[in-house]
Amino acid sequence: MSSTPCIRCGKDRVFLKKWTDKAAERGTPITYELYVCPDKDCQKVVDAKFEEMREKKAFAAAKKEAKTEATKLAAKAGIKTA
Ligand SMILES: [Zn+2]
Repeated sequence: MSSTPCIRCGKDRVFLKKWTDKAAERGTPITYELYVCPDKDCQKVVDAKFEEMREKKAFAAAKKEAKTEATKLAAKAGIKTA
């Protein structure tokens, strides 16, 4: 696996760490390799961006979940929802 350039500044990213995730559902360990931007400040911005994306995704999922739950409860109670 080779490095890809930084999505923000385009510099070649450097290898930071490698780890294996054995928690995979099918029991096949997955090896991850993490490459980061050589510019620490740039990497911080990139990390923050990814974190923000993750939060947004989690929030959207939670919202969907809540709506599904509400619809189910309403159906149980015989209430029709739009
Ligand atoms: Zn960068």
